Amino acid sequence: MVEFDTIAAISTALGEGAIGIVRLSGDQAVEIADLIYKGKDKLESVPSHTIVYGYITDPRTNERIEEAMISIMRAPKTFTREDVVEINCHGGILSVNRVLQLALRNGARLAEPGEFTKRAFLNGRIDLSQAEGVMDLIRAKTDRAMDVALNQVEGRLSNQIRLLRQALLETVAHVEVNIDYPEYDAETMTHHILKEKAEYVLKEIDKLLTTASQGKILREGISTVIIGRPNVGKSSLLNSLVHENKAIVTDVPGTTRDVIEEYVNVRGVPLKLVDTAGIRETEDIVERIGVERSRQVLKEADLILLVLNYGEVLSEEDRALFEVVKDMNVIVIVNKTDIEQRIDLDAVRELAKTRPLVTTSLLLDEGIDQLEQAIADLFFEGDIEGGDLTYVSNTRHIALLEQASSTIKDSLEAIDMGVPIDLVQIDITRTWELLGEIIGDSVHESLIDQLFSQFCLGK
Ligand code: GDP
Ligand code: ZN
Repeated sequence: MVEFDTIAAISTALGEGAIGIVRLSGDQAVEIADLIYKGKDKLESVPSHTIVYGYITDPRTNERIEEAMISIMRAPKTFTREDVVEINCHGGILSVNRVLQLALRNGARLAEPGEFTKRAFLNGRIDLSQAEGVMDLIRAKTDRAMDVALNQVEGRLSNQIRLLRQALLETVAHVEVNIDYPEYDAETMTHHILKEKAEYVLKEIDKLLTTASQGKILREGISTVIIGRPNVGKSSLLNSLVHENKAIVTDVPGTTRDVIEEYVNVRGVPLKLVDTAGIRETEDIVERIGVERSRQVLKEADLILLVLNYGEVLSEEDRALFEVVKDMNVIVIVNKTDIEQRIDLDAVRELAKTRPLVTTSLLLDEGIDQLEQAIADLFFEGDIEGGDLTYVSNTRHIALLEQASSTIKDSLEAIDMGVPIDLVQIDITRTWELLGEIIGDSVHESLIDQLFSQFCLGK
């Protein structure tokens, strides 16, 4: 095991703002906690995995800082596999901060973002894809995204990757046997068997990759832009989406971008409604941020909600909007069905082509269900309720899987061309390495640092 100093950070539980936890991890965690704790017993004498009650006290001044419940968890059965002490404070953020400062003054070092999880990884408690799952959990925006991340933490993706690597390794081993002992009477690794294995691995990798776009969307949210002529009901649509659905609180800080984002959860699909404030204030995204900027926003959008007016004939402007979004994911919404029809729905259908078309009366609150269903269908294709699939949602994993898919394809081509088996083996070994990088079996140290620095502080 690697030697580490003792780290400390505020690690407040998901969704709970009021309670603060100061977490210490490392060889001296208990020792340091003892310096700043006054209670019935010394923490050093307390058995592992127990909680004690007492006061956090400044040893210099004897001042009581905070009433606290303290959990003592000794290595190796802890998240980091080191000694861990968690100080649960019930005061506000201020007193939590004072407890942390006290720990730091008495020998702990402030943890870097993700350092607890990094230690769990380095100490072999979890693999890299699980560590990244923890990170996704922290950021998960809907229950479904949470499920995906949880799956990853539980190691489902890791297990699948391990199975594939095992299959590749066996293949390589067979080849080695045949090279080293040509006279050995084992099953000869014929092109045929090699091909079978490679095809199996390719099929499984591609299966994982087909889940990738959905996984990524679950993680990052579908960036959605509402467009339409003035007065068709864009703001009304936005409001009903926001009000009918749980708004997702996001910790993405207000960046320098002039685009404001709002998250809502529509049947498990996290919609990131882009530039909603702009639409709200000026009714017109183009007017507010200019043509160029709005083109950019449209270009980055995953989903366009194109709104038309049921009570007006299709205008040139409407047709132009269809042209602008012709290569995009679009749901066409014909709004204001409560007033007299003037729009030609057949013409709309023709413009919409195969895209979903929904009619609504936002005034009467009609059609929202169908719209929400259309959104869900578009991104879930109806059949993943069971949640049994392993989603690949992490960009790094996707990139590695894509490379692995392409190298195993190379090996299949080589097999078909009759390239000698020991040469084919190079691609197979490369595939094995690439898959290994997903679970962290062969990753470079700087990559590890970079990955873990993306974590929230205290995780
Ligand atoms: P925007 O300019 O596209 O953002 O349109 P708004 O959402 O601001 O709506 C323009 C007007 O149409 C407002 O007076 C709304 O109350 C009204 N409106 C919105 N949806 C409907 C609807 O379904 N039926 C009717 N009759 N009026 C609606
Ligand atoms: Zn409006």
